[in-house]
Amino acid sequence: NHQTPKNVETIIDRFNIEGKIIEIKAFGSGHINDTYLLKNENDSYPDYLLQRINHSIFTNVPGLMKNIQLVTDHLKSKLSEAAAATEVLTIVPLHRGELFYKDEEGNYWRIFHFIKDTNSYDLVEKEVQANEGGKAFGRFQAMLADLDASLLIEPIPNFLNIEMRLNRFYQALENDSAARKHIVTEEIEYINARTEQMKTILKLGREGKLPLRITHNDTKFNNVLLNKNDEVQCVIDLDTVMPGFVAYDFGDAIRTIINSASEDEKELDKIKLNIPLFEAYTIGYLREACHFLTDIEVESLMHGVLLFPYMQAVRFLTDYLEDDVYYKISFKEHNLQRTKAQIKLLKEIEAHATQLSSIVNTVYSEIKSEVA
Ligand code: ATP
Ligand code: MG
Ligand code: MG
Repeated sequence: NHQTPKNVETIIDRFNIEGKIIEIKAFGSGHINDTYLLKNENDSYPDYLLQRINHSIFTNVPGLMKNIQLVTDHLKSKLSEAAAATEVLTIVPLHRGELFYKDEEGNYWRIFHFIKDTNSYDLVEKEVQANEGGKAFGRFQAMLADLDASLLIEPIPNFLNIEMRLNRFYQALENDSAARKHIVTEEIEYINARTEQMKTILKLGREGKLPLRITHNDTKFNNVLLNKNDEVQCVIDLDTVMPGFVAYDFGDAIRTIINSASEDEKELDKIKLNIPLFEAYTIGYLREACHFLTDIEVESLMHGVLLFPYMQAVRFLTDYLEDDVYYKISFKEHNLQRTKAQIKLLKEIEAHATQLSSIVNTVYSEIKSEVA
């Protein structure tokens, strides 16, 4: 785990925090930022969460923090004061109101209120959990549906743009810098056969048929804080919030929830679909989101479910072709194994696509008739 930074006291001093911090410790299981819990001496003051923002991934920190402020202000404006404090992240500014601090070494720091008495889980194992995850991100999108998406910047430009991902993949193929192309002809063929289909969401967006919304873009279950009863309380980790299509958040969440095995499973036969978890997530999501979604957006959800394993396969294979420069690997062929596992997952989803679509449609019409 990451060490407590040596100049931490002088960092904390810059921020407008209340009370007296008596303990600082590394916290959580995030992979992107370094996160520390700041314990306050006294219960009448909040505890805080200090984060060193991963500046190599997020190069525009001012833009990113502005995004988070816009989004959290908008969410809070819809809630009571008490709910705004416990159900939405609260940024702690510096003494003069800036949203982050840049230290002498070029590190970027920010502080949020620590939200007490909550849990987050890395893995979805039960239907009730999948349902809460769906509710969390459905409500998040719904509450932001009336905020102008063009106010937000893209903290990582083209993050979910499959055209760009494919361009990079074809570039890597052409370079073949690790001389691995000949090993992966089957995988290349599989990817080639689906390039047009996988651009469906982008095309519908360009044609004006799918609206750009504000989406979360990292809809893992551990980015939801649950209360004592394991019900959704707060969506966190807003670094990647930006204009996007609703199917992205849905597909991103489903990619891990629906997979009965791990992302890099070696024994491909173990990769099966967990359809009850898929249904539970869909119910939670559509219950919260049905009132703002258009019919085409609901139809697009299944394209998102297909797109995410595909995009992940493309990214893993690109890294494999480029000699493993991006993803951390534990053994030589790790990126190839990950690619094969994502392709197997996509094959399973393709084989069950009719069933999955009909679950989405049935759930949608049931919820709509309940509401009506
Ligand atoms: P990821 O790998 O998902 O991108 P990250 O490095 O961006 O993670 P966060 O998700 O922001 O980090 O935070 C890491 C963990 O800290 C969370 O999973 C959660 O358990 C906890 N956490 C984050 N923010 C808060 C908060 N405001 N109150 C309580 N706990 C929090
Ligand atoms: Mg996180
Ligand atoms: Mg994150």
